[in-house]
Amino acid sequence: MNSRKILWLVSACLLALSSVLVSCGKSATTTSTTTTQKTETTTATSTTITTSHPATTTSTVVTTSSTTAKTTSQTTTGPYTGTGPLFDTHLHLDENTLLSRFGSANSLISFLSGGNVNWAIGFCLLPVDSTSSTALSIKSIISGTGSHIIPLFHASNWSQVFASEQYTKSVLQQYLQPQGLQWGVGEIALYQTDLQSVTFNSPAMQAVFQAVNAVKGIVMIHLSTVNMGGRATELSEIEPSVRDYPDTIFLFHGRKEDMQLVAQLMDKYSNVYFTIDANDSIFTSKLVGYNLLFPGGAAADTAERFLADINRIGTEALVQNGLNNLETMLELYPDRVLWGTDLSYTWHFDDSVFDVVINLSREVIGRLPADLQEKYAYKNAQKIFECFLTSNP
Ligand SMILES: [Zn+2]
Repeated sequence: MNSRKILWLVSACLLALSSVLVSCGKSATTTSTTTTQKTETTTATSTTITTSHPATTTSTVVTTSSTTAKTTSQTTTGPYTGTGPLFDTHLHLDENTLLSRFGSANSLISFLSGGNVNWAIGFCLLPVDSTSSTALSIKSIISGTGSHIIPLFHASNWSQVFASEQYTKSVLQQYLQPQGLQWGVGEIALYQTDLQSVTFNSPAMQAVFQAVNAVKGIVMIHLSTVNMGGRATELSEIEPSVRDYPDTIFLFHGRKEDMQLVAQLMDKYSNVYFTIDANDSIFTSKLVGYNLLFPGGAAADTAERFLADINRIGTEALVQNGLNNLETMLELYPDRVLWGTDLSYTWHFDDSVFDVVINLSREVIGRLPADLQEKYAYKNAQKIFECFLTSNP
C-alpha cells in the first residue's frame, strides 16, 4: 500500500466521524460515511454487447473479438448486467440534441429510459439572452422533463458570460431558480483556451458561486490538468470557494489523475462529490487509444468510427479499463462517487452509441463489489439530488 493510499484511508476514516450533507433548500444535517473493504463476487460469462434500445429497429452486436482484448471475461449476474436503474450525473443537452435530435421532453425521456437511465443532471447549453427563441424553445422542452432531469445552466459562450461580475450575475438571474428552471451551473471547464485568465477566485466565478449558493444548488466543474493544455487546477485555488459556499454542491468531474485533488477536498468538505463517468473511465486511457467519445474533431465524428474502435479494442479491455479507473476512488469514497455518461454531441445520442455506453457501463458496474453497485449506479445521486427532482416543475 503506497503512502497516498494510506493517506486516503486515514482521511476517509476521519470523514466517517463528521460528514455533513448539504441538501437543496435544507439546512446542513449530520450524516455519516463509511469506508468498507470489498470482496469481489464475479462469475465467468460472455461480454458480447447487444443493442436493445427500444427505438432501434435493427439490433447491433458489438463483438468481443479482438487481438488486444483479454481472453478471459468476467461478469456478474444481477441488475447491472440487465435493467438496474441508472442516474446520469453528467449529460450534455445542447441545442441540436434538444431541438433536433429529440424535439420534446417525452422523446428525450423515452430515449434515456430505453437504457433505464431514469434520472439525469442535464447541462443545458443556453444563449445569454433568456428571451431568445432558442432559449425559449429549450425551456419549453426542459420544463417538461418533470422529475427526470435536473437542469443546469451551461453557457454557449462562457467568456461572454464572464465579461464582468455584474453581467455574470444578470445572466444567471435570468436562468437560475426561481426565475428560471436551472438548479445551478455547469459544466464549467476553465482549461478552455478562452478562459485561461479566469480562476475560481475571479470575480465572475465568485458571482457564479454566490448565485448557486443562494439557491442551494449545484455547480459542476471539470478540473484542469496540464495535459489538457494550460494550467492545472491547484487545491489552493478551489478550496476557498468550496469552504466559503457550503450550501453549494460542488460536483467535480474528471479523470483518474484528478482524484487526488478531489480526495483532499472530500476529506475536509462534505459538499464535494465526484462523477467518474463512462467516458472518463471506460473510454479514456492510452490503453484504449485515448478518449473514444471525444477524439479530435469530435463534433464531426460518427457513430460508425466509435463502433469500429469498440470492435477493434474489444469490450473486455474496455471494461477492465473502466474498473481500473474507477475502483480505488469508489472504494475509498463509496457514498460520494457517481456514475454518468458525458454524452454531448449529437452522434453520442445515436441509438447504437448509447447502447454501447450503457451496456459497457452495466458490465463495469456489475463487476464492482456488490455493496457498491447500486450506490455508484444511482443511489448516491438519488440521495444527494432527489430534492431537486421533486421540486423541478
Ligand atoms: Zn462533460
